[in-house]
Amino acid sequence: MSEPNRRPVPQKSRFNPYLIYLMIGIGLIIMWFSYSGGEPVQTDWKDVSTTMLAKGDVERAVVITNQNKVELYLKKDALTKYGNREKGAKINPNIAQGPQYYFNISSNWDDQKMFSEAQANLPEAERIIPDYIERNNYFLQALSWLAFPIILIVFWLFMMRSVSRNAGGGGGSGGIFNVGKSKAQLFDKDSAAKKVTFNDVAGLEEAKVEIMEIVDFLKNPQKYTNLGGKIPKGALLVGPPGTGKTLLAKAVAGEANVPFFSMSGSDFVEMFVGVGASRVRDLFKQAKEKAPCIVFIDEIDAVGRARGKNVGWSSNDERENTLNQLLTEMDGFGTNSGVIILAATNRADILDKALLRAGRFDRQIQVDLPELSERLEIFKVHLRGIKIASGLEIEFLAKQTPGFSGADIANVCNEAALIAARKNKTVVERQDFLDAIDRIIAGLEKKSKIISPEEKRTIAYHEAGHATVSWLLEHANPLLKVTIIPRGRSLGAAWYLPEERQITTTEQMLDEMAATLGGRASEELTFNKISTGALSDLEKVTKQAYAMVAYFGMSDKLANLSYYDSSGQSEMSFGKPYSEKTAEVLDQEVKAIIDGAYERAKQVLSDHADGLHQVAELLLEKEIIFSEDLERILGRRVAQSRLEELGFVKKDPTQVS
Ligand code: ATP
Repeated sequence: MSEPNRRPVPQKSRFNPYLIYLMIGIGLIIMWFSYSGGEPVQTDWKDVSTTMLAKGDVERAVVITNQNKVELYLKKDALTKYGNREKGAKINPNIAQGPQYYFNISSNWDDQKMFSEAQANLPEAERIIPDYIERNNYFLQALSWLAFPIILIVFWLFMMRSVSRNAGGGGGSGGIFNVGKSKAQLFDKDSAAKKVTFNDVAGLEEAKVEIMEIVDFLKNPQKYTNLGGKIPKGALLVGPPGTGKTLLAKAVAGEANVPFFSMSGSDFVEMFVGVGASRVRDLFKQAKEKAPCIVFIDEIDAVGRARGKNVGWSSNDERENTLNQLLTEMDGFGTNSGVIILAATNRADILDKALLRAGRFDRQIQVDLPELSERLEIFKVHLRGIKIASGLEIEFLAKQTPGFSGADIANVCNEAALIAARKNKTVVERQDFLDAIDRIIAGLEKKSKIISPEEKRTIAYHEAGHATVSWLLEHANPLLKVTIIPRGRSLGAAWYLPEERQITTTEQMLDEMAATLGGRASEELTFNKISTGALSDLEKVTKQAYAMVAYFGMSDKLANLSYYDSSGQSEMSFGKPYSEKTAEVLDQEVKAIIDGAYERAKQVLSDHADGLHQVAELLLEKEIIFSEDLERILGRRVAQSRLEELGFVKKDPTQVS
């Protein structure tokens, strides 16, 4: 799905900070040269004593006591004389004011004696006596003082730049002073790229109606306010991952023709204290300037999670400040007329109650996993760009994918196209879609996994156990196929077509548990020993049994009691809402349910030991068997209707494989 053209929030032209560094550098160089005023040429005492001093060409000599060095200032008329001397040394005419030469001396050098000896042949009046000074290079000293803080500041600037660059990937931030600015992206009617429209969102009819109404509130507010109604401030899209919440919001952006700010809840969070709250303020400021407009906050649970009750222990002050600011902005003294907040989350149950109350998010729009008809629509949207074989029944694909979200379906279509391309086909066929679905449910086939013949037998009997029990129990989910080819992390798998039920009865749960335990029961009956292969089955069954007893009140001894906390916020602030005695009863009931299911599975399998054996042997031989094979071995299934309805039990088995 291509994104609408992103237009960052307009920002002022920025001053390039590298210019500052350049200017500082140039300044330093200029200071250095202006201070030193050019370089004197090095020479030695022998040269000086025999030429310059002996000939009376030196006007002044300065002994720099703390540097063991003597500097010589030549008389003006002597300058040219010593211009081009041996060793190529050249006096810079710019430094006529001197010193022109210097030479190094040792610490015990007797300058008085040496100077008077060297000038012995000159008249008394022309002789010079050296001056003494101590010279400190204040610039270098200052520099060495400043070096450390300068390095620190440069390092800090560098860090801040990279932090704010990372943090400010989108929108209006950049540079450290913009760290508190919101990072919302702005989409508006001028965005040129292909927009997502409601046509790209399949199904979700109720959600679309609600959300379109919100767009209408912004466009025609009088229609609603004339009758005394108030425009809602916000709507929360709630639903499992991949069901199209973000897509729906993008479609609003595409259709609303009002400015649309989009950001993710985690964009508020930064390593600096107070940034989150400041970004919330900035977001609302920008939004008010652009009103009427929509602000969309994806994954709002990142900031909207319920605030801690134990203030002293809270380690999430920054997040809570951000949330407080959000609450204030949504319902503060300031008016937000013309700004509607849309937010999306997978976990409405963990959001702070204050956020959910009417007046902030007045509406909750449920975006659920798609039903059969909706899956059909979603398939149609995602098959638009794919070359499918003529006669491919899209409805069949929709029936094959119960429990799939819109994102899963998009993935199936894409995977199927890739699988077909790998086989060098010109169109994508039904089998490619089935392979893609298998791959998404169970992971990649791993034929290379090394499995000993004995292990293979155990796996075959395990899977045959699942298959046989689920085939023979009336309420278990209808089985589609069984395989002992390792896939993903499992060594074998049985594919069921779960019915899309809204409610589940005790019988259905018990039958499903028996089918899940059929694998281990078969191992025990056949080999008289059990293996670790049943781990995930046992985990599933245990959780199911606990849910039956503790949540659904489905056991005899704890009938009609539910310890479920739908708020997810441990409203009952004590650890367990039941006594130790009840906990024991709960454990006993769970054990009784699981034992019962296991015994039933064993009973079914020993009653049909021959069938089990045949299914397992066929599985060992073919590695993958279908519902037709099971029907041939075990007879027609009692609850046949659903498989027939879905078109899996047909006279000609080649249609499926
Ligand atoms: P999450 O809560 O994990 O962020 P989400 O609900 O926001 O998930 P989206 O990002 O909207 O999910 O959906 C992911 C992808 O799934 C979309 O880009 C789209 O390709 C596909 N999709 C989901 N629902 C639909 C739908 N109803 N119609 C068409 N495509 C859909």
